[in-house]
Amino acid sequence: MVKETGYYDILEVKPNATDAELKKAYRKLALKYHPDKNPDAGDKFKQISMAYEVLSDPKRREIYDKGGEEAIKGGAGGGGFDFHSPMDIFDIFFGGGGRRGAQRGPRKGKDVIHQLKVPLEDLYQGATRKLALQKNVICSKCEGRGGKEGSVQKCTNCRGTGMQVRIQQLGPGMVQQIQSVCGECRGEGEVIDPKHRCKNCNGKKIVKERKILEVHIDKGMRDNQQIRFSGEGDQEPDLEPGDIVIVLDEQENSTFKRRGNDLIMTMHIELVEALCGFQKTIQTMDARTLVITSLPGEVIKNEAVKCVMGEGMPVYRDPFEKGRLIIQFLVNFPPSGSLTPQAIETLEKVLPPRQEVIVPDGAEECALQDFDPTQDQSRYSSNHLEAYDSDDEHQGGQRVQCASH
Ligand SMILES: [Zn+2]
Ligand SMILES: [Zn+2]
Repeated sequence: MVKETGYYDILEVKPNATDAELKKAYRKLALKYHPDKNPDAGDKFKQISMAYEVLSDPKRREIYDKGGEEAIKGGAGGGGFDFHSPMDIFDIFFGGGGRRGAQRGPRKGKDVIHQLKVPLEDLYQGATRKLALQKNVICSKCEGRGGKEGSVQKCTNCRGTGMQVRIQQLGPGMVQQIQSVCGECRGEGEVIDPKHRCKNCNGKKIVKERKILEVHIDKGMRDNQQIRFSGEGDQEPDLEPGDIVIVLDEQENSTFKRRGNDLIMTMHIELVEALCGFQKTIQTMDARTLVITSLPGEVIKNEAVKCVMGEGMPVYRDPFEKGRLIIQFLVNFPPSGSLTPQAIETLEKVLPPRQEVIVPDGAEECALQDFDPTQDQSRYSSNHLEAYDSDDEHQGGQRVQCASH
């Protein structure tokens, strides 16, 4: 049991969530509440980051499970942990390159992250997706100047700073400096002669452009894998554009479950097939038909697990190599009452014989019932207690009556 569930609640997962579930939850919520996408979400992004930072670290998660938020924040003996900034966690998680150019080379714009839902079939077979995006590009008419060459002048009012300082007389010998956005250039630091202003971008230097990205999903790619389009992010004057990063979000398949390079499926077989052999077909995700055979005499037990080598997921960048197809068999037994007395007699003749049981004198005959795991185990005995209780009360009542005589 965990002491409190706050961090789990923030990530919208159960306290027994696996690492993969935590990752998925963080990815979903971090993209949703990232300040770029959701500036009104307030502290939500910070909370998500903190919860994820704690729960994704097995040591911290253990401390949190035992002692709750107080223990994590450095209560008794914990000493406290250092926390990264929410943006750092986001960058680490998404492999963000937003700061790569910060120290050297030209300044780089922000990376744009998109999530792409991909059915398991597409990760199995490979696929190409076209993604339509709106992005800012440098205006081609004015080459990002905002107007004809020479028509862009540094604002004389603010000397190119975009800010204006006003001095206000408050009283004799008392002045106040008020800083505000320059009214002449609206904070741009430059003015464009309206006659020569670029009509294509209206002097804004950038225009919106619809861009189609072709995303190649390679065989064997994984959930959370990133596909990076270098320099395809928004363009801005004097800034190297950031990247567009596509994050794959694997969708569940109704037949196959993926575990690494293995695929897992369940198959129902009849009792006769389990005992006397069978042939079954399996449709692969690339529409091939596999035939599997169990020879007569080969007994498949209920919940037995078998596998077909080389029919799992293709290995990323080595697609001719494939994992295993793991099959769990579930045996359909005939329903109660469906076998005729003759059939039972025949079965008794062919199946291995029963073991003789000696029932000693005094053995107690019990009824065998269907087991209901949801039923409270203590109910049967507590009913008994209730019965005794009411008897006691009854007797007690009589006693009181006797005493009053
Ligand atoms: Zn100005
Ligand atoms: Zn322009």
